[in-house]
Amino acid sequence: TPTACRKTHIQYKHRGINNNNQEERPYLQQQYVCQRITHTDMFALTALPPGVDKAEWLASNTVAFFKHINLFSSALSEFCTPSTCPTASWMYFPVYFWTDDHGRKLKCSAPLYFDYAMSYIQDLLTDEDVFPTKAGSVFPTGFVFLVQKVFLLLFRTLAHIYWSHYRETLAMGLHPHLNTLFTHLTLFCRQHALLEPEDTEPLCCTKGRHTHHKNT
Ligand SMILES: [Zn+2]
Repeated sequence: TPTACRKTHIQYKHRGINNNNQEERPYLQQQYVCQRITHTDMFALTALPPGVDKAEWLASNTVAFFKHINLFSSALSEFCTPSTCPTASWMYFPVYFWTDDHGRKLKCSAPLYFDYAMSYIQDLLTDEDVFPTKAGSVFPTGFVFLVQKVFLLLFRTLAHIYWSHYRETLAMGLHPHLNTLFTHLTLFCRQHALLEPEDTEPLCCTKGRHTHHKNT
């Protein structure tokens, strides 16, 4: 079956790359995958409501996803340390560097990478020139591009949790929240074309490819 093939392939690609080398990936197991905190129609939740400005809809969802994902990753932060996660790996892509505003590449562990990511997002969201809150202000040119960057970082945060911290998530009973959040996020991104196929491919496809990955 495709699922069995995927599991075998993932184990093969995974071996020796990540120290979290359990035979079965728990997040692929049906009894965990199907658990959600709500069975609301996610397509209806992600679609642009009639009469709402598209940029406004993207902005309010960006803020909401950031708050939820920041909260979720904080709940697991004690398990994500420089020794457990020396790189910000997700699937078989280890990410070693964060590229700062000046184009400098900073070598970092997963907790540091996601700290940089969350601070970067927070700064953007509170920047009145990028995410205006006052009546009459307009969204800047390139707004969608920045939103795409934010969603790529949020997606990677969840992908890292699936890849490296799913056992702790299960132990804390948080997997229905994680599954719901991830489903909502991926559907929202698909509906509004926020992630490139190659950004999500490692989690979704059956074939592994080593491609160059931008990290911001
Ligand atoms: Zn980690």
